Amino acid sequence: MEVEQMKLKAYGTFGSLAVFIPGRTIGGNTTCYRIDSPCLPADTWLVNDGGTGFAVLCADALKAGVKRIIVLLTHYHHDHTQGLLLGAATYIKGIKVTLVGPLEDGWGPHKVLMDVMKKPLHPRAFQLEASHFVSPVELEYPQNQVLLLHPEGGFKVLGIDTFERLCDKGDQLPFRKGQKFALNECLVIRMLRTDHPEKTISYRFDEGPTGKSFVFLTDHANQDGVPADLKQHLKSIDLLIQDVQYNREEYDARTAGFGHGTPDYAVRLCNATGVKRVGFTHHHFMWDDAKIEANVTAAQELAAKIIAQTVVSEDADGLLKPEGIFLVRDYMEIDV
Ligand SMILES: [Zn+2]
Ligand SMILES: [Zn+2]
Repeated sequence: MEVEQMKLKAYGTFGSLAVFIPGRTIGGNTTCYRIDSPCLPADTWLVNDGGTGFAVLCADALKAGVKRIIVLLTHYHHDHTQGLLLGAATYIKGIKVTLVGPLEDGWGPHKVLMDVMKKPLHPRAFQLEASHFVSPVELEYPQNQVLLLHPEGGFKVLGIDTFERLCDKGDQLPFRKGQKFALNECLVIRMLRTDHPEKTISYRFDEGPTGKSFVFLTDHANQDGVPADLKQHLKSIDLLIQDVQYNREEYDARTAGFGHGTPDYAVRLCNATGVKRVGFTHHHFMWDDAKIEANVTAAQELAAKIIAQTVVSEDADGLLKPEGIFLVRDYMEIDV
């Protein structure tokens, strides 16, 4: 059934490793989200990251009769790609798979799979399976391009200069076979690099027909300020899904520089950019429920404290409220 507005389903919300810990109710697939939107072509699924949750997503895609899966990869660390090795879509020729990801030192999405899917690391070589992996997109300068999706036009990559020039003139956007469609019929995906050890992309999704927007910001470390480009990237969004793998104590003691965030940083980032709803993801694979949930509580307490300390009540209206902060669990569905 077609959705009326953008909606997410989390298939994997853990960082680093898929681990089942007895008694834990949160998790434990690694990162994979499905993004559904009325702007997607029929029988096409849009996915952010191919962590182990991707294998479960593939089972659902088969049941739904999906014909094409577009996977936007943030980067190639195992926790964001491992589901691609064994997800059914990799082996079923009837489903076309398009991988989109950063290009760094010659490594794009197909080269990554070619190097990981080969003996003795993997029983089947990628080359033997790759005939239905179509139109890969390698992004050397992600911020210089936009990805477009349209129900009839399909999937298109445009340079940001061309895109902005056409939008400024009010012109329609070019898709395949000379077809053109209006901006307000498209799902527009803009990109920005995160602060992580390897080139990593944060994707921003703007849904033309509804005006809804959300940003997926994972594998991003705490930063001191908020750079202008990140501010722009998060401007006016309805929802942020953010990597909050650590707590402040661990971060200060030993995990600074690992490329992941903390609850206090999430609150500070939201308050600096006007974000009102934030879901925490990329949970620590060895933490139990209580420790993971404590990250949300810590953020909620901090958000409440900041509001209480804000002297002018109108100023507090623009701040993140405790109820806007939530934990994303595997298989949770979220309206943008
Ligand atoms: Zn990760
Ligand atoms: Zn990573």
